[in-house]
Amino acid sequence: MQGIPLIFEKTKTGKEGFRLSPLEVPKVDLSETLGEDIVRDEVNLPEVSELDVIRHYTELSRMNFGVDNGFYPLGSCTMKYNPKINEEVAAMPGFTELHPYAPEEISQGTLEVMYDTQNLLAEITGMDNFTLQPAAGAHGELTGILIIKKYLEHKGEKRTKIIVPDSAHGTNPASASHGGFDIIKVKSDSEGLVDIEALKELVNEDVAALMLTNPNTLGLFEKNIFEISKILHEKGALLYYDGANLNAVMGIVRPGDMGFDVVHLNLHKTFSTPHGGGGPGSGAVGVKAFLRDFLPKPLAAQKGQMYYLDYDIPHSIGKIHGFYGNLGVVLKAYAYIKSLGAKGLKEASEIATLNASYLLKKIEDMFEVPEDILFKHEFVVSCNNWKEKFGVRALDVAKRLLDYGFHPPTIYFPLIVDEALMVEPTETESKDTLDAFADALRKIYQEAKEGPDFLKSAPHDTPVRRVDEVKAAREMKLIYEG
Ligand SMILES: *Cc1c(COP(=O)(O)O)cnc(C)c1O
Repeated sequence: MQGIPLIFEKTKTGKEGFRLSPLEVPKVDLSETLGEDIVRDEVNLPEVSELDVIRHYTELSRMNFGVDNGFYPLGSCTMKYNPKINEEVAAMPGFTELHPYAPEEISQGTLEVMYDTQNLLAEITGMDNFTLQPAAGAHGELTGILIIKKYLEHKGEKRTKIIVPDSAHGTNPASASHGGFDIIKVKSDSEGLVDIEALKELVNEDVAALMLTNPNTLGLFEKNIFEISKILHEKGALLYYDGANLNAVMGIVRPGDMGFDVVHLNLHKTFSTPHGGGGPGSGAVGVKAFLRDFLPKPLAAQKGQMYYLDYDIPHSIGKIHGFYGNLGVVLKAYAYIKSLGAKGLKEASEIATLNASYLLKKIEDMFEVPEDILFKHEFVVSCNNWKEKFGVRALDVAKRLLDYGFHPPTIYFPLIVDEALMVEPTETESKDTLDAFADALRKIYQEAKEGPDFLKSAPHDTPVRRVDEVKAAREMKLIYEG
């Protein structure tokens, strides 16, 4: 195995990193109360010094790639920089040391932030009520689907189907299926948008909802959204907004105004916590007023000067997270929204789109790109021509980018584009970084021309070289056997 030894392999018998002070109270034999198998002398912990521990984990952390050490244009994940002021706010002891069972009278600050965040998100999206409970985008989807299901049950309607576009993120059909619905796929037209005629054919009294991302996973704005909304609503079906791509449209258009009834946001994408940023996420869900009574409970609410948790939600789907959700991510989103303000959020979206358009212009001659298409905050190009001309695949390009110090873009998604590279630069990157990334791609293009083998064995300069993905999936070995 490449890389560095496990901390267990660094053991030297007798080394210790921490020493307890001498016992000052009578010794108690716990094995009588807890049982012999719980109280053991041998626990097989590594015997290392404090300095060994520090060096070990610092070395490990250097093998990692994060948005704080390099450009991370992972399409659909919005890996923007998270200003450190947000972390500082989230780490304030008034928040971190508040016990979730603390009475409302001494939790006013936290409740106020939750209440304000619910309202800010409602304003940004044009919805009426928000829950902060879901822990991720996919969890928000499931929450939204369960809300739709309960609403339909309440109306006495038996609708069994959910429509998703063929360009949808895999979590959409997964969430709908988990919620007990059958999935129908609607195809994309030649422009990469929902095929309106095909949609019309599919929508009937069996359909509960259409799940849609706008701009969609190709980075294209569904410009027929009003017509789509009409097609669904005329047949009594609802419209669900996958908000993973809100970074393209903040302060410009609102899903609520486009006709969506339920939305989820990925606070850990759009609102600055990087996706998969070493911690939990938040998939806040917003609804139009007619669905408010189906939201998970409790919601943060206000009465006079006081904030409280409102459990009076008559048809609630129940709780979907312990306590109130992942407050740390919510706090970062709150700090982010407050520090940018309405003007700043709009500017962020505009620059995200500008950065994507600029980068595309710099690299489009090397790839297959559909003509005359206006991308938003991310774009998708195909490496089909690389495959045909040089025998080099999107995967090889992605791996070689690591040697140049860049995190690769998303590859092979959306599924409807062969050899897809999906690039989302975000607004927090400078022109210099975008230029350097374009230069790296041009060098890789040259390398591909000169011979594919070098690229096929990339990365060459990373601590771990190319991994066998099939073996990793088939023979997963996660336990250390020392
Ligand atoms: C990321 C993403 C999701 C799922 O969000 P998670 O927070 O990863 O669960 C859903 N849809 C789209 C389009 C996404 O990009």
